[in-house]
Amino acid sequence: MTSRIPAQVGMALAEVETPALLIDLDALERNVERLASDLASSDVRVRTHAKTHKSPAIARLQIAAGAVGVCCQTVGEAEIMTQGGIDDVLVTNVVVDPAKILRLAALARLCRVGVCVDDESNVNALDDAAERMGVGLHVLVEIDVGSEQCGIAPDDALSLGRTITESRRLRFGGLQAYHGRAQHLRTHQEREAAVKRAIDLVKRAAATLERGGIQCETITGAGTGTYPIEVKSRLYTEIQPGSYVFMDADYAKNRNRDGTAFDRFENSLFVWTTVISRPTPDRAIVNAGKKTVSVDSGMPLVHGVPRATYAGAADEHGRLVLSPNNETLAVGEKIRLVPGHCDPTVNLFDWYVGYRGDRVECLWPIEARGASI
Ligand SMILES: *Cc1c(COP(=O)(O)O)cnc(C)c1O
Repeated sequence: MTSRIPAQVGMALAEVETPALLIDLDALERNVERLASDLASSDVRVRTHAKTHKSPAIARLQIAAGAVGVCCQTVGEAEIMTQGGIDDVLVTNVVVDPAKILRLAALARLCRVGVCVDDESNVNALDDAAERMGVGLHVLVEIDVGSEQCGIAPDDALSLGRTITESRRLRFGGLQAYHGRAQHLRTHQEREAAVKRAIDLVKRAAATLERGGIQCETITGAGTGTYPIEVKSRLYTEIQPGSYVFMDADYAKNRNRDGTAFDRFENSLFVWTTVISRPTPDRAIVNAGKKTVSVDSGMPLVHGVPRATYAGAADEHGRLVLSPNNETLAVGEKIRLVPGHCDPTVNLFDWYVGYRGDRVECLWPIEARGASI
């Protein structure tokens, strides 16, 4: 890692160099507590998705609040979570590369490891690697419930389930049934309809397996946008929310059942940026562009500056459009942006600068940043 450490513990937030990735620790802690309180009267488990934050420090906070472990999207993320003290990881993805399969099996010497499959030959490759490493792996059958990514059709679950249960080293770990596309459907009614369709597919898969003598003890899925629906389903036994811990401008466009803004969780993640130029009365330029704030799900929001819009991103510059008579932003002023999409924004930084009030309280390395392999 070649980047500078962006701040010192104890310094004033105003002194932190920009661009930096900030965490409002009070807001982060409230988000963690709110999810825990939503699940308090339920026996559905929480397995938070670590692809959002890529940080064992944050994963440990989530586990302290009751999460059973974490989800990861890559073997690299899973390795870093394990090194950071997490002892239960589920890779919510298929792993196909032989070298990665061996790394995954090696990880199972250190902690409980789960992985998803949607292909018979992949099950055999996982079993061979587990045999070679002398470990067990929890293998979940992934069902496509509407995202059109990985995953089989429900009726094909039994033959895959049998291959797992008849293997030497693999344990059937249940069903992975995450509906990614449903998370950002804007109305509650749309999200509910999508998850209901997912529930029907999961029921079919579970029934097919049961007829073949295979019990589904775990049915896992759900993200920030839909988890209350899966929790109520009496079918899902585990949820996998990730973004709730930070939130972002895209999730802020979701609506509750009554049409109000989805504000169960607060923005706790910000890109700290400086106004570097005021070329015209209605334009301000900041030093946060595409290399520091993701724009794949829409532009960031300008936090706490009324009538200022982030209108366009170049590599290292962001263009703010200011409405008339809103000319408080001076060159040198520092402001916070709410990223359009939290996960890819995190992947652009090496460090979180955690603050409380106006003081820097901690620096957390984003240890799994770039761990796409
Ligand atoms: C991203 C992801 C999640 C978390 O979704 P959020 O919308 O960030 O809460 C859960 N499960 C899987 C498989 C994912 O890929």
